[in-house]
Amino acid sequence: MQSTAGTAIRSLDVERIRMDFPILQTQVNGFPLVYLDNGATSQKPRSVLQTLERYYTTINSNVHRGVHHLSQEATDAYEAARRTVAHFIHAAGPQEIIFTRGTTEGINLVASSLGRSRLSPKDTVLITAMEHHSNIVPWQMICEETGARLKIIPILDRGDLDLEAARRVLEEKPGILAITQVSNTLGTINPVKQIIAWAHQAGALVLVDAAQSIQHLHPDVQDLDCDFLAFSGHKVFGPTGIGVLYGKEKFLDAMPPWQGGGDMIRTVTFDKTTYNDLPYKFEAGTPHIAGAIGLGAALDYLQGLDPASVLACEGQLLAYATGKLSRIPGLRIYGTAPQKASVISFNIGKLHPYDVGVILDQAGIAVRTGHHCTQPLMDFYGIPGTVRASMAFYNNFNDVDRLCQGVEKAISMLN
Ligand code: PMP
Repeated sequence: MQSTAGTAIRSLDVERIRMDFPILQTQVNGFPLVYLDNGATSQKPRSVLQTLERYYTTINSNVHRGVHHLSQEATDAYEAARRTVAHFIHAAGPQEIIFTRGTTEGINLVASSLGRSRLSPKDTVLITAMEHHSNIVPWQMICEETGARLKIIPILDRGDLDLEAARRVLEEKPGILAITQVSNTLGTINPVKQIIAWAHQAGALVLVDAAQSIQHLHPDVQDLDCDFLAFSGHKVFGPTGIGVLYGKEKFLDAMPPWQGGGDMIRTVTFDKTTYNDLPYKFEAGTPHIAGAIGLGAALDYLQGLDPASVLACEGQLLAYATGKLSRIPGLRIYGTAPQKASVISFNIGKLHPYDVGVILDQAGIAVRTGHHCTQPLMDFYGIPGTVRASMAFYNNFNDVDRLCQGVEKAISMLN
């Protein structure tokens, strides 16, 4: 594949799309920014920025509380955003959409609320060896509290799940399986639909960590048949501080509230409190109203792009970057599973990933270095960290060329 910066990839006009993201015009250290840290957070299209400004300049108010005009406008916009999310992930209805601070909070909510009501010392919680700390630590905490045991589905060397081992541990009938759909470090796309079916046969409830997949795969919760799914707005071109927990209504209904406070109650006396209906039962306190509305705008933006073209464009970038990087002597890519999102983790000989990252930054190239909040995965490969380039649909071949030039420069400077 040739370097074709400036041309359309399939039916996606990448150069036009780039104009929608003002930050991509930024210069860093005297160079045009190459933003390859989309796994950490994604950039925001102008429509999201304008929605945030419009919210604060025209309807800023608290929701569900006031009879006055602004409060009603803010409530309408907030609830419209919830319907947009429900539609985007194909939830059965808006009552299944709980606004959270992000993926981390969604997983903590389920671990605490479901864990306390479902787990006992004879139970097991199953996760995988490639989970982000956000999908490890909350389960460790609830296992410690309830006496349940944490078990790990191992991975194979190329970074995909050991499905034979998964089937074996599922036969032990775990209470809960929590699994990422896409590995933030390796890019591996896990066959979650298949694994969820196996888990359900074994009687487990399944939470999907969609922090990474939401950007690339647009998961459909009814097709996956997951019981819970969590994602963060900032990784899907929306604001930080807002996220979504999806849960099947019957399970959310049966779960006790997590945090107490305003909005989550129906009546309060000093003797007894009764709780609000879904989804408000799980939304104590003033929510991130602007964030939710901004997330709705981000999903509206994404819905204006053809998902197949986005996926094809990212696949072409991944293939091009993998080919070019693999030809660099001494460079090893971690994560070579057949099904991958546009994420490449690599190291070059004995060079420290941090040093490589600093040299790339000097050339205006933003990548992530370190353990990517997956320390057990780093232990598996026996490395302290990697350099990670994570690409979104607004990246182009020129970005990959600049990355490869930067890596060559780092090699010549650091050796
Ligand atoms: N899970 C995965 C797979 C992630 O990549 C991340 C973010 N790097 C998280 C969970 C946590 O997301 P947040 O920090 O937005 O809550």
